[in-house]
Amino acid sequence: MTAVDFFNNLVHSQEEITAQYQEEMTSYSPQIKKIVFEAENLSFHYPDGEPVLKNISLKIYEGEFTIIVGLNGSGKSTFAYHLNGLLKPTSGKLFVFGKDTKEKKNAAFIHRQVGIVFQNPYLQFVGDTVEDDVAFGPENLGLPRLEIKKRVDDALSAVHLTSLSNHDPATLSGGEAQAAAIAGVLAMDPECIVLDEVTSMLDHFSESRVLKIIDTLRERQKTVIFISHNPKDILKADRIIVFDQGSVSFDGTALEYIYSDKYPLPDITKLMRILQKENIDVLGAVSDPNDAAKELLKLLKNVDK
Ligand code: ADP
Repeated sequence: MTAVDFFNNLVHSQEEITAQYQEEMTSYSPQIKKIVFEAENLSFHYPDGEPVLKNISLKIYEGEFTIIVGLNGSGKSTFAYHLNGLLKPTSGKLFVFGKDTKEKKNAAFIHRQVGIVFQNPYLQFVGDTVEDDVAFGPENLGLPRLEIKKRVDDALSAVHLTSLSNHDPATLSGGEAQAAAIAGVLAMDPECIVLDEVTSMLDHFSESRVLKIIDTLRERQKTVIFISHNPKDILKADRIIVFDQGSVSFDGTALEYIYSDKYPLPDITKLMRILQKENIDVLGAVSDPNDAAKELLKLLKNVDK
């Protein structure tokens, strides 16, 4: 072997080692997360309409809980429809687990990976009973009977609806109906669940019920995208994205969002920020009334001393 051959071999094996190392890092390191959604210069307009989404580029990672905020008409729902391929970009691309939503052959895969729940759950029901309705998706996947039963039972139990499984979905309360719609999506076992304004028609009690279901989805390590023009519990989010007239005007953590003082805040957070700006020693990043009460009680006890 000449010295040149020797070095060529050495370089080759170094490359192999590097490739192997990278592969190992990807498969074993929990820090390297898969990209679920990747939008590349995504723009969209409805037929003969004005641009609704303008040049959006972003990545959303596996297991992330993202809240998308924005005024009515800012393009949030239109973006949500792109996430499971219901709408396709007019220009640019959207990839789901690396698969282009514009390619027909990817449609079935994308529908299985991304479930969407909309504002009005009653429009989504297809079954005569809650159980039948939740079974509809897995039946369409052609799963064996036992597997369908297991998925339906599991999904209904996750949203605490087991006791209503034989009820007509049309007779459910708003919160129960939204829970049933989420169960229908859960039974498909998608990687990602998009919740589009699911709490905006609900009373306080039903809203809390749906927000608790989101905690369950997170425990199950689902990628959750919660779209709302008026989110309450923003501190639970890993990430907040603000849509403004079809563009992304902010993309960061909940703390960055709160302390930017540029965007709408839940009333509780607004109150804490006002006190903070008056140099009162409280946490500003509080979105739960119980935490706010603790902060204020601490303050009052100090005043007494
Ligand atoms: P958001 O969810 O933030 O309220 P939408 O995505 O629903 O925003 O709407 C963004 C813009 O697209 C609005 O100007 C709306 O009127 C328009 N739009 C929404 N749906 C349609 C449609 N099916 N056809 C034409 N224009 C639409």
